[in-house]
Amino acid sequence: MLASTFPSYPLEQVALDELLGVIRAERALWAPHTGADGHCRLQPMGEGSLPRVAITAFLPLKKLLLPPREEIWSFRSGEYCTAQVPQAFAVVGVPLCDLQAVWYLDQAFADDLPYQARRAQALLVGMACVPGPECRCDGLSMPLAGDLFVDQERVWALSPAGQALLRACGCQVSQEMPLSWPVAVTGKRHALTQKQFFSTTEAAIWTDEAKRCLSCGACSAVCPTCYCFDMLDAAALDGSVTRHRIWDNCFFAEHGKVAGDYDFRPGRANRLRFRMEHKRFGFGALRGQNSCVGCGRCRKVCPVDIDLDQIAERLDGEGGS
Ligand code: SF4
Ligand code: SF4
Repeated sequence: MLASTFPSYPLEQVALDELLGVIRAERALWAPHTGADGHCRLQPMGEGSLPRVAITAFLPLKKLLLPPREEIWSFRSGEYCTAQVPQAFAVVGVPLCDLQAVWYLDQAFADDLPYQARRAQALLVGMACVPGPECRCDGLSMPLAGDLFVDQERVWALSPAGQALLRACGCQVSQEMPLSWPVAVTGKRHALTQKQFFSTTEAAIWTDEAKRCLSCGACSAVCPTCYCFDMLDAAALDGSVTRHRIWDNCFFAEHGKVAGDYDFRPGRANRLRFRMEHKRFGFGALRGQNSCVGCGRCRKVCPVDIDLDQIAERLDGEGGS
């Protein structure tokens, strides 16, 4: 259940360098880093201090929790082998939207052993961010996942692991309090209802927007809650087999193809609508759950400026009620 308050400590009581040292001693450390090309990426963190503000990395945390290509199992010499247990790691400087996205992935992969094994090894340190023009997050929401949260005044323990870390660094007297957000979010997601969405299945906007869409898949690749994948089995002449899970993308032409050459989503309009449905209304056990955390990555990366919120606004005006 979502906590409304967390144990928190005034920043001046927390020795951040010591905290970072304790984390680093036990885990590989990752942090957002802006390169010479101006793009921010999650990268292994060398020496240096804890960042003090979160930056939305070009590729989100899912690249560590659900890598683009991972071995699931192999069969060699008559035996099945599961993939190796991943090493413990920590990510510092995670924005709120990415913490919420991890919570969503936790639900979607609740029964997935490789994901859960990696997730159990992850320590996540959230931080206050500076929202960009593309951001549409629920800035007033409490973090749903994560272990620590640092802003300009306090440090919060979001999990027992976070609390233990702070105690190990000498923080003893905490105060239960809600997280308060020092910055206002620039925009709001359009609150499209399922009824509105499904009453405009044939709306012209899908074909209009699809004429511009390049099916490049960039929006889905950078989305922190997009997780479509494919399984690839590689069989060798010695009888061994290895199964890999690799990222797939609902914008790719092959994604909806099944046996018998049937294609669930043969056109770009079908694929664009499918992505919108997945983002706003989920599938399977998560049906009805919005999975857009408002990070703005898709808006930022789309080469032809397709924006799901603008589509939602137009659908709203096209007769759904
Ligand atoms: S749909 Fe766009 S704004 Fe929403 S979570 Fe995905 S990338 Fe972020
Ligand atoms: S990034 Fe834009 S052009 Fe590329 S698939 Fe997504 S909506 Fe289409």
